[in-house]
Amino acid sequence: MRASAYPLVDAGAAGALVLDGTPVLPAERVHVGEAVGRVLAEDMRAPAELPAFPSSAVDGFAMRAAEGGATLAGELQPGTAARILTGGVVPDGADAVVMVEDVQVDGATVTVPAGLRPGTNFHRPGADVQAGELVLTKGTQLGAAELGLAAALGFAQVEVYRRPRVALMSTGDELIEVGNRPARGQITDSNRWALLAALREAGAGVTSLGIAPDEPDALRKLVVEALESADVLVTSGGVSVGTHDLVKPLLESLGTVHIGRVKLKPGKPFTFATLPDGKLAFGLPGFPVSSLVTFEVFVRPALRKLQGFNRLQRPTLPVRLAYDARAAGDRTEYQRVTLQRRGDELVAESTGSQSSSRLLSLVGAQALVRIAPGDQGVKAGTVVEAMILALP
Ligand code: AMP
Ligand code: MG
Repeated sequence: MRASAYPLVDAGAAGALVLDGTPVLPAERVHVGEAVGRVLAEDMRAPAELPAFPSSAVDGFAMRAAEGGATLAGELQPGTAARILTGGVVPDGADAVVMVEDVQVDGATVTVPAGLRPGTNFHRPGADVQAGELVLTKGTQLGAAELGLAAALGFAQVEVYRRPRVALMSTGDELIEVGNRPARGQITDSNRWALLAALREAGAGVTSLGIAPDEPDALRKLVVEALESADVLVTSGGVSVGTHDLVKPLLESLGTVHIGRVKLKPGKPFTFATLPDGKLAFGLPGFPVSSLVTFEVFVRPALRKLQGFNRLQRPTLPVRLAYDARAAGDRTEYQRVTLQRRGDELVAESTGSQSSSRLLSLVGAQALVRIAPGDQGVKAGTVVEAMILALP
């Protein structure tokens, strides 16, 4: 199929097609010390209650609350108190701990204040977590608190989804490696570094494969080799209509191209293919903004599905446009905006020229505003739902 022959897929339908073609990766067991950012692949129930024993919240004396106001001996029979440290086992019979600052110690006797309530300064067994309680659910991302809880419950290892292994390459004879001086007509490969960052942020392990030339055999060799160990191939460039657009025919020969063009601005030439063994290929457009916007809209949700996340999409919030948003005619446009809090509202201002080569339109962008195709546009002052990248 010639590149131009691909049907233009509606942006929403394209997102659904990508997710339909994306599997969830298998799970693996990982030490709690290595699991930050990973997604739990099973529900986690507490094997036992926490605290496991009655424990003191303070340094002080364990006693019977009913005996408040009395002078007690240092043994825990009725009429006695026991010296105890924070976290220490509260002896049987005691139901309160009085802080060391609140007692008067005189030899073997302590005088305790009156009016103590049972349970004061003491954690009952099971007060924090009940045995058998569902504490973490499948699909939860593991952060500091979740990993601390898993460890507290005695889990040295957690069952998490595998991270996607992504092979990343740029394509284009005009590209040169960053740090070299471009001759006239040459362009520094920036997409690879932008996409490397975006992929890592989205939880992928990335192998960076450099710059592939606009030469079918060399490109095929690189891609076939990369796919031996990768779950996902991400390329940039080489998907628009032109003589050097080699990615689509290559993916046609390796698997099934589901999307070759999208009614999306920026990012019309976005390409998505499924390959044997559940592998995926994303052919992102060459223009820097187009590659990052299509990453946001299509690749990031797919990477999250691979990793077992419950929530695949960025959160959205209503924002009030501070500018007249022109529509792109026949394509859904994702416009880059900054956000400002004004009273109870978020106000969205354009990041300036939305040219697909102008990376500055994404630098500092805090949301993407989706403008439906048509000739209407959206007037300044209108409230629209925006995809939030970062809150002000
Ligand atoms: P293409 O889709 O290959 O025709 O590329 C479209 C535009 O994006 C051209 O101006 C390319 O020079 C530019 N471009 C392609 N790949 C990259 C890259 N890796 N880094 C920066 N710009 C690129
Ligand atoms: Mg190119």
